[in-house]
Amino acid sequence: MEKRIAIIGGGIVGATAAYYLSTLPGSQNLKVTLFDDGIGQATAAAAGIISPWLSKRRNQRWYRLAKDGADLYPQLIHDAQIGTDVYQQTGTIVTREAQPDLEILHDLAVDRQKTAAGMGQITVLSAQDVQRHVPLLTAPQPGILISGGARVDGAALVHALLASAQDKNLTIRRERVTLTADEAVHTSLGDRKFDRIIVAAGAWLKDLLAPLDVIAQVRPQKGQLIELAVKDYPLQENLPVVMPEGERDFIPFGHGKLIVGATHEDDKGFDLQAEAAVTADLLASAQRLVAGVTADDITAVRVGTRAYTDDFAPFFGPLPDHERLLVASGLGSSGLTTGPQIGRLLAGSALYGGTPDWSEYELPLKTYLTSASRA
Ligand SMILES: Cc1cc2nc3c(=O)[nH]c(=O)nc-3n(C[C@H](O)[C@H](O)[C@H](O)COP(=O)(O)OP(=O)(O)OC[C@H]3O[C@@H](n4cnc5c(N)ncnc54)[C@H](O)[C@@H]3O)c2cc1C
Repeated sequence: MEKRIAIIGGGIVGATAAYYLSTLPGSQNLKVTLFDDGIGQATAAAAGIISPWLSKRRNQRWYRLAKDGADLYPQLIHDAQIGTDVYQQTGTIVTREAQPDLEILHDLAVDRQKTAAGMGQITVLSAQDVQRHVPLLTAPQPGILISGGARVDGAALVHALLASAQDKNLTIRRERVTLTADEAVHTSLGDRKFDRIIVAAGAWLKDLLAPLDVIAQVRPQKGQLIELAVKDYPLQENLPVVMPEGERDFIPFGHGKLIVGATHEDDKGFDLQAEAAVTADLLASAQRLVAGVTADDITAVRVGTRAYTDDFAPFFGPLPDHERLLVASGLGSSGLTTGPQIGRLLAGSALYGGTPDWSEYELPLKTYLTSASRA
């Protein structure tokens, strides 16, 4: 019998869920509809470092999820036939000015490598080595190269995943929808019922769950980055990402495109204006490492809204007491890394049902979702 599944939100979580719902065994019996208005989407603004292994975060559940998300990428990209202009394991270089800091980082890398095959090789680099890897840097610091690190273009990835699913069982509706108290999707054409609904609405989850009397503990954070067209860009298209100490991250994308960012602005709500002062600050960061770039080289400013929880951890799974619904949010600043794994797990759960145990990745959902009547 045909099963009807809705997805609300077409960012990394919704798009990977849609992709897996079009490829998992049994998906031929599914009809999937994705609703997305795309306004403020974090995924579309993001570009895109996949390199969780040297993070100092102590949350082991988050680390396992991020590690498994990074590990999933090569297979997902291969299966969905996505090109290196969208995702590439270029390697990531984390720099530190002081030798003792570099040694601490190296010890962490060696320790993490024991359980993270996806990290690839670890190489200690002098400042000159760093410059050899990334010739456009004019003020390099010593660092550590992690060969499995990657860069991804969030907007292009989502586009490719959704296009692949559209060839099979996915219909996309570009509109803002709401949920009704009896778990229907309220659309411009009226209320529609589905067997399962995946609510992958990022920072907007709170609004969507309000009619169900559920309060989601999620807050918005504004993120901005700049795109530069760098003159005299070296010929190779696969330069590593550089994460310099005390500066913004540098993400070379080939064809002369360099992305510098991102900001983490907690006091701006859902504002999507590109701000001149922030652009100037990002440019100054670029200029400290690449001499000669000017405001004229800026080709775009991207702005998006991340979703944050109080403990900075994502949550996802069946909504307690509303088992037709699955939710995900709170992916914060590492959602391109964790998002595909979350989307894959949600897709499997929506398709096959059951009571998943994802405690290795997250705290119980009731940590982040409370009943309005009990609040
Ligand atoms: C500038 C920036 C840089 C970043 N860099 C990195 C990075 O280097 N590495 C990394 O791992 N992560 C990074 N991130 C974080 C990452 O992009 C996010 O955590 C992740 O993309 C969130 O994905 P999501 O699917 O949960 O939400 P989103 O991508 O925000 O998608 C949610 C979608 O739901 C839609 N929606 C919401 N409500 C409704 C409704 N009622 N009806 C219809 N549609 C609705 C929205 O319009 C949106 O399209 C960055 C984020 C930003 C902003």
